[in-house]
Amino acid sequence: MAIRYRFAALSAAFVLLFAAVPALAEEAEIEIEEIIIEPSEPAPEDAATPAPPLQQTVQEVFTPSSGSPYTEDIASPYWTTPMDITDEEAVWNMLMQPITVIDPGKKTTEKSQVSIYREPDEDSKIVGEVTCKSQGVRVIRHEENGWSLIECYSSSFHTPASETGAWNILVSGYIKTAYLKEVQPSDQLGLVVDKLTQRLYVFRDGHLLTTLLVSTGLVQHNGKKYQPYNETRSGEFLLVSRIGDFSSDRLICAKAIRFNNGDCIHEVPHVLQKDGKTKNYRSTEPYLGQKRSHGCIRVQYHETPEGVNWRWIYSQVKSNNSRIKLVIWEDWQGRQLSEPSPDTVLYYNPKGGQYYHRLDHCNNGKGIVFTPFTYGELDDQPYSKLTCCPYCNPPERLSDIRAKNELYAPGGDHEELLNSLRADYYAYLEQE
Ligand SMILES: [Zn+2]
Repeated sequence: MAIRYRFAALSAAFVLLFAAVPALAEEAEIEIEEIIIEPSEPAPEDAATPAPPLQQTVQEVFTPSSGSPYTEDIASPYWTTPMDITDEEAVWNMLMQPITVIDPGKKTTEKSQVSIYREPDEDSKIVGEVTCKSQGVRVIRHEENGWSLIECYSSSFHTPASETGAWNILVSGYIKTAYLKEVQPSDQLGLVVDKLTQRLYVFRDGHLLTTLLVSTGLVQHNGKKYQPYNETRSGEFLLVSRIGDFSSDRLICAKAIRFNNGDCIHEVPHVLQKDGKTKNYRSTEPYLGQKRSHGCIRVQYHETPEGVNWRWIYSQVKSNNSRIKLVIWEDWQGRQLSEPSPDTVLYYNPKGGQYYHRLDHCNNGKGIVFTPFTYGELDDQPYSKLTCCPYCNPPERLSDIRAKNELYAPGGDHEELLNSLRADYYAYLEQE
């Protein structure tokens, strides 16, 4: 395919944009402009606390197929279930439903991909790629000519073989019906990664068992070129081969399981100290909760109070054919995080410790029973310097939540760099 990508002409503005986005997330000092309803009577100057601003909580309901042209009622649970972790029953039901993967048969590997065509015709334009065996597709309809119309986030990777450059774009097109294979997932566990919250939600027996911090892919410049393929592709997947430990630029990625071609889910990477034994997570662990990887999903190694970390999950995945479902929720622009109630109870250790906690006990501080306070007091003394515990994952600070909501506000563009790099794909679609 004669597509060439020329990123050299990208202006320095992109560099500035790229620099600005992480700063926005890390500094988290942005105040949201709030709508304050004027009281009908002017308040006396010495009035006590003013009435709180009205919260504008009406939100659009987002699903993985938000923006799809196919709005008819098709039985496609992953694609049409709202991305709302608080509805455990709906999420569990979605995780337990069959997934349709692609398997063209002999010689197909977990790294094979097939093209998605604009028309039911191999000579028509390729609009995206889908990874075999692990990636699920939404079947819109079967045609009588042996083709089916499907939809998924394109798994375009940095490989020259089958590349449209549809970087994590929700695409629809045709695949041969004979390639489609419905698989019933394991009822043992289900995993949800939300790219908005940068968390992994572990489901078991119909309930949310625990929440772990993750880092998904970050689109960036590696000193030579932009890497739009770093963005972790959203969608519905089956965990496939357990590939164990691998290293990448000195970083050791432990207990990896492949879920989409080159993308794996594994423990947050470490380096070994000079003694060759001691693991050091300092260059990666502080970034959990933010996009950071080259496309893999990095998962926290600290054990939550529920006894779960990545190693525990890995131990539950007993084979290369576990059929455990992993769904990845897209961080659509316009999605907003809800603000915790000020009455939410948090915990801390009055005798020391840098963290605030979700429960009165935590693996950070084994054996200690923490003291309660409320989320509404978090900015007051002595809580204002405490940081979010990376073991038990309590709610983030209001300033951090509001900063993220500002970045993801309707009408904004939290992925300006990625969107600029997608321009070549849209130009290619327009070509005859
Ligand atoms: Zn904790």
